[in-house]
Parts: sequence; structure tokens; C-alpha cells
Amino acid sequence: MLAITRKIIVESGIITEVLHSDNLELIIDGHSYKFPPGATAVVGFVDCHGHIAGYGMRLSEVSLKDCKSIHDCIAKLQNTKLFRGNWITAFGWNHENWTENSLPTKELLDEAFPDTPVYLTRQDGHSALVNSAALKIAYINELTTNPQGGEIVRSYDGKPTGMLIDNAMALVEKHIPDYSLEQYTEFIKTALSELARYGITQAHDMDVETRFVPIFNELELAGEMPVRVKSFVRAQNNEWLRDCVLPYKGNFFKVQGLKYFLDGALGSYGAALTRGYDDNETKSGFLLLDENTLKNRAKRGILSGFDIAIHAIGDSAVNTALNVAEKLRSDSLLEGSGTIRIEHAQMVLPNDLPRFAKLNVVASVQPYHFTSDTNGMAQKRIGSRMRFSYLWESFIQQGATIIAGSDFPIEKPSVIDGIRSFLTRKSSLDGTIISPNERLSIFEALDAYCVAPHRVHNESAHFGCIEAGKTADITVLSANPYLLQNEPEMPIDVLATIVGGKVAFLNS
Ligand SMILES: [Zn+2]
Repeated sequence: MLAITRKIIVESGIITEVLHSDNLELIIDGHSYKFPPGATAVVGFVDCHGHIAGYGMRLSEVSLKDCKSIHDCIAKLQNTKLFRGNWITAFGWNHENWTENSLPTKELLDEAFPDTPVYLTRQDGHSALVNSAALKIAYINELTTNPQGGEIVRSYDGKPTGMLIDNAMALVEKHIPDYSLEQYTEFIKTALSELARYGITQAHDMDVETRFVPIFNELELAGEMPVRVKSFVRAQNNEWLRDCVLPYKGNFFKVQGLKYFLDGALGSYGAALTRGYDDNETKSGFLLLDENTLKNRAKRGILSGFDIAIHAIGDSAVNTALNVAEKLRSDSLLEGSGTIRIEHAQMVLPNDLPRFAKLNVVASVQPYHFTSDTNGMAQKRIGSRMRFSYLWESFIQQGATIIAGSDFPIEKPSVIDGIRSFLTRKSSLDGTIISPNERLSIFEALDAYCVAPHRVHNESAHFGCIEAGKTADITVLSANPYLLQNEPEMPIDVLATIVGGKVAFLNS
């Protein structure tokens, strides 16, 4: 069963009995957890596409988003304990929201941090404010010329003010040390416990740097993984081969697959389209790997026991990914082994749609990206091609499998928000429903988050159902999610997250 309000008995991580009861009660290794009327146990949520280390970093770094002045920013920075080497970095300031709107300069930063280099990225990511200590390390002074595509902002006497625009940011950025592996370990721990708060029992971690794999190994050994993780390791340039990463199947941590990029995203005109963008005919994006290179690299991966995840957003990239899948599937050496997933799969040529089912290629979609992208951006970029974009129900009707994720930290890892997008398909620009036929039913939406992720990675024997004999990965919600079908905006909270019979989160 997918969602129930009964008494569930769990012993040593396995569901042993499901009994009748008026209200939900979990009895875990003899411990009773009672929930209020209406609370419902759902098969544990899986977020099928996210970036765990990046999410933890975002949660840990100082955010200057709510600051109202440079004084606010400095006050926040003075409390930080997070350094990169000896640098302080932070992001999110926006002087348009400040009481004093003029572009900031370095003087007050210099007073507060005379010796510590400081690098503060503006909210849009296109400029940064730095102090004199940072300028000195980067050898930037009145004699430094502006790099192409960038500007070192100067005062009337030609001296740098501390503001760096676009490509001038790189002059300083390249001197900032990376975080240490100890810091990354903390980021990963922070992210995992936050994911548990969202009811997530398992996350598929995308484009994982090879050096993070031992961190997860250690966390698993130490019993410090509240949430299960399947890693899809960075493979664009055969990093996994260089660093000798092989598939690994632990209980909470698995090295499951390899991740490749075929193109970029629509917002920055990086998605590879078969013809020009509607709002810029001269641009059509470009492929980051050619068909044969990707096929050969992926084949090597599948032969080593990996699954394959290919980032493809534009219709040309999706077409190429399907061509690669076709070649891999027809290779007698591989004999149909290896799950092949297309991450995002946002634009699909009409002729390519049936190929997903035919080639057994999984569409890994992010319903909330639809909501964010339809603020006008996607409509402008691809115009009438919206009709064949962000497909959901069409995949299912064609017999293909879709799995769902959030792409955290780009979006919040909220499965409930994702389900609302699946059910409503309302544009965030004006609330109109775009291609209503693509909406999913609540049953299909829950399948994409709770059941299909196990099916596509051949784990249905132990996961994806609340019944005796299955692993106790359970998300407890304040209401039955089936009610969202008729009332998609109904408030609904995560009350508890149980992973392998352990309480990863309890809302008390
Ligand atoms: Zn991503």
C-alpha cells in the first residue's frame, strides 16, 4: 500500500505487521509513536535529483539576502565561523533593497576586516564586493586593466572601489581556497538532516565529486547517515576512471551510477535546441559531448556495473541522449544491463517521445522547475515548443517511467511542492494552466516520488510499499496526500521520517 492510517509494527528495520487502527501508530522496536487523527504514513519519499554537498554549503554559508545595509552585512559576517582558508565569503546582498541604494564600496569592510580577505557575491551572481585585503592578494590596483567582459569599478582617482563586475570577479575568485574535506563532511551532514526534515528517506545525489565518496563511506560506517543516498558520480571527463571509483552497494550509501552533461539550461541559452531560441534566433545552445564520445564513455561505465544518468534539457540534447541509449541497447555486450536515465528531459521532439518506452529510458523530471521556469522565461525562450516541453502524462501514456526530484539546492527539496506542480501545472507568471493534459493524478505523482525510483533501480523487492516484509522507509504526513487531488493547495506537513526503522526526523 502507498498511504495508510493504521498501526505499523517495525522490527530491526523491517515492517513486520500492519494492523487495523483508527489513528496512525508506529511501533518501532517496541517504542510507540502515536500521531493525531488524519496523519498518514506514506511510502518514504525519494528525491531523485539533487546535490547534497552543494545544498549543505548553501545552508551553511552566510546569506546576506535580508540585510538592509552594509552595516547589517558586516554584523552578520562578524559572527561567522565558516572560513575558506582564511577568507570570508558570503552571498545574496542586493543594494536595491538597502535603505541607502548606492553601490557599496570597500571602506567599511576594510575597517571591520583589515587583514581578513572578504568576498561578497551580489544576489544575481554578476558582481562582488571585496575588501582591500582581497584586492591585495589578487594584485588588483589602479594600474590593473579591466578584463574582457568585466569591470573593476573605480573612484574618481582611478583607485578600485572594491566592486567587481562579471569577468573581473574571476581575478579574485581564483585566489579563494576551496573548503576543506572536513568542512565538506559537515556540509553533507547538514544537508542530510535537512532532507530528513522534508520527509525524504532517500536522495539521488548527482554529479558527485569523486573525493566525496570516501566521506559518505565513513558516514555510513559511523552510522551517521539519517537518509539513504545513491551517488551518480561525476564522469564527464572519465573522472571515475582516473580516481578508481567503482559501484558500491552499502545499506545507506550506494555508488549507483555515472553522471554526464549533454547541454546547459534554458535560462542562460545553454540548452541545445534543434533550432534557434524564440527570443534570440542566433542562439541554439550547444552539445557538451558528441554522441560517439558519450556512447563510448557510458559503455565503459555500464560494463563496470554502473547505471547512467545523462543531463539533457534541449530537444537536440534529448535526441542525442536517446541516440546514445539506442546504441547502448543494441550492443550485444551489454545485454540490456544498466538503467539509463535522462535528467530533466525538458524538451522532446514529437518523434522522440515513443523512444523513451521503446529503449527503456527513464525520464527523471523536476516538476517544480516547471513552476519556476514558467515565470515567463520558458515561454519567451521556446514559444510554441512549450507544447512538447515539461512532458509528464505523455511519458506515462507512452509506457515510459518517470521519476521525480527537486534539483536541490536550486529548489527546496519539497516533495509536497513538487506534487502540487504535478497536479496543477499552473504557470508562475499568471496562474494559467499550461498543457492541462500533461497534469498527473495524485496516484501517478506519488508513484514518481515513492515507488518508481525503486522500480527503475531494481529494488522493488524491498522498497516502495508499506506491507509486512518491506524495509521500513516511511514518511508520516499530517494529512492523507490523496486529498491533494481535489485540494492541491491544502496545507500538509511532514510529521516524521523513518529510514530503515530509524527515526531520522520527528516533528515534536
Ligand atoms: Zn542538478
